[in-house]
Amino acid sequence: MDEFGLIEQYFRRPARRSEVVLGVGDDAALVALRGAQRTLAVTTDTLIEGVHFAAGAPGFDVGYKALAVNVSDLAAMGARPLAFLLNLSLPRIDPMWLAGFRDGLFTLADAVSLDLIGGDTVRGPLAITITALGTTAPGGALTRTGARAGDRVYVSGLLGEAALGLLARSGHLSLPSEFQAPVLARLDRPLPRIEEGQALVGIASSAIDVSDGLVADLGHVLKASGVGAEIDLRRLPLSRAYDAAFATVGYDPALVFGDDYELCFTVPPERTPALAGIAPRFACGFHYIGDIVAGRGLVLRNGQDIYAPARSGYNHFDG
Ligand code: ADP
Ligand code: MG
Repeated sequence: MDEFGLIEQYFRRPARRSEVVLGVGDDAALVALRGAQRTLAVTTDTLIEGVHFAAGAPGFDVGYKALAVNVSDLAAMGARPLAFLLNLSLPRIDPMWLAGFRDGLFTLADAVSLDLIGGDTVRGPLAITITALGTTAPGGALTRTGARAGDRVYVSGLLGEAALGLLARSGHLSLPSEFQAPVLARLDRPLPRIEEGQALVGIASSAIDVSDGLVADLGHVLKASGVGAEIDLRRLPLSRAYDAAFATVGYDPALVFGDDYELCFTVPPERTPALAGIAPRFACGFHYIGDIVAGRGLVLRNGQDIYAPARSGYNHFDG
């Protein structure tokens, strides 16, 4: 059983409250308080030392990333950031590390206007859980369920950069020196696409953030929407660093490693002019990579060939 099977089997239940407009299964839950003008989007993620970041990782990077992975889920809902809660489990008080952690955390919190409103602090193995709140217009959230056959599939920014960073840091890949810093920056300080997500409301028919790899995350959209997709690998947005590494790593870091925190979204053909209208506002770019099709499953095409990655994506209970 993988982590998604576990959630299905043990924890998914029908919502009892009519205020819960979207429960388990999307990037954030949506709660519509009666009479309120905005709907609340709520998401939570945990980072554990040794699993999500290396033992001894700088506090700044850990603080930044713990918040970034949550902000990325708000972005995938098209939500406006509101506030967050911080649950800290610390083995000891290390003032230097904590100051760095705080600075990384608040650097991103300030950049996206999120207030820290509470949390919990305990002694234990180093682990950070953040719960982030955002708001959307009622009925105006991006979800995983709206993709339809004929829609185009897009991703923001570049894929595989964080994976290259991880491979470079662990000594599995040697990159030309000018490419080291950019890929490590993308691993440690992802740029959640919060403005882009809000701009895509009314344009995208579905969206998800790429946290576990394109194949896994687009797979969630396909499953939730009851459709399939065909992706053209030659259209994947890859950097010059990736080009330099391609002979060694092939397509898989861009497809199955995760940690990109880009948005993958679908757009109905009649709304592609609206997408072209907002695109110039965003330096990351929106890249057309393939199409939603009737049926089920994801087909990766490399010209005439069908491509199968070595694994499907990051999963905590795989195998
Ligand atoms: P994401 O990668 O977008 O953060 P996850 O893959 O972590 O999403 O989780 C998938 C969905 O399952 C989300 O809607 C999440 O809220 C939900 N979920 C995860 N773990 C649990 C749990 N223990 N109980 C209830 N819902 C859960
Ligand atoms: Mg997500």
